[in-house]
Amino acid sequence: MSPVLNFGAGPATLPVPVVEQAAAELGRRSRDGITIMEASHRGLDFSAVAEKAEADLRLLLGVPETHRVLFLQGGATAQFAGVPLNLAPEGASADHVVSGHWSRRAADEAARFCTVNVAADGAGSGYRSVPDPATWRRSPEAAYLAYCANDTIHGVEFHRPPDPGGPPLVADMSSTLLSRPLEVDRFGVIYAGAQKNLGPAGVTVVIVHTELLGRSGRAIPSVLDYRAMADSGSMLNTPPTFAWYVSGLVLAWLIAEGGLEEMESRNRRKQALLYDAIDGSSLYSNAVEPAWRSWMNVPFRLADPDLDAVFRDEASAAGLVGLEGHRSVGGMRASLYNAVPETAVRTLVEFMSDFERRHG
Ligand code: PMP
Repeated sequence: MSPVLNFGAGPATLPVPVVEQAAAELGRRSRDGITIMEASHRGLDFSAVAEKAEADLRLLLGVPETHRVLFLQGGATAQFAGVPLNLAPEGASADHVVSGHWSRRAADEAARFCTVNVAADGAGSGYRSVPDPATWRRSPEAAYLAYCANDTIHGVEFHRPPDPGGPPLVADMSSTLLSRPLEVDRFGVIYAGAQKNLGPAGVTVVIVHTELLGRSGRAIPSVLDYRAMADSGSMLNTPPTFAWYVSGLVLAWLIAEGGLEEMESRNRRKQALLYDAIDGSSLYSNAVEPAWRSWMNVPFRLADPDLDAVFRDEASAAGLVGLEGHRSVGGMRASLYNAVPETAVRTLVEFMSDFERRHG
């Protein structure tokens, strides 16, 4: 096992057995004499990989028959445009809740394709919380309500999905999907780039209610068109076969490890360890209100910003990497995705406490 503990926000650490299995399988050629990385997406070998990945994702999340699962490209950023194009008819409006960097980006991109009503914006509180849903300024005609379930940069997480009322609920779950069980039937659309909790960068999962396929009646680039992609088994064009394959290994690993209830209890313990350490120290701080603190991405600051570089260098020398905060906010951030073991979080907490003794 690698001695380095990677707390990066994404692309992020993968389960060690998955990396080892992928490495071993890439060295093994199939009966055709080719590896999975070289196989046609329309061949039998890759079809089996693709079908198993979808079946395992459906099993883990309990995806109902009412919803289609798509494996697309373009990251979550493509879905910032894909959602309004698929769901909002020409001239329609959409409600967006802004709870950090990524939901702001989603709202700005959607505004290029429909009228965006920002129903609530956590910027007023410096993204330390999200305004109470009772105060959200909803528009009666909205085609959907969009929010980001976990803001990877500000570390703000919805621990329960909001109630959309009438229109479908759309969630960017890039950095929280598969971290705990989910009631998929509450959502019209869920999307997530793989490179945090699911696999390597390159594939984006979209889970969409069949009623929403073709909903907008608009001309949509085919690769963003949920109906065209559902009709073609996500193979209207060449899919990202390698990322899809490795994601399949991660999904099988999640099932073998006990599924999403088990991930929830592990992730609950991991975040508690780190937040307790931060709250119990006088050197580190996290500004997010406890009810909104992310389990997956924990940003924190040092009381003396001059120590940031020292912290990073010493952490890196101790084998703890990927701890720098996003360039837009600075400070530190530890991402605690499923593949980060509890022992790694303990090592981080011990390092932080030792650092505070020496520099605090
Ligand atoms: N949404 C969230 C919550 C993210 O964390 C990210 C990437 N860090 C994005 C959207 C953008 O994803 P991508 O880079 O895959 O387009």
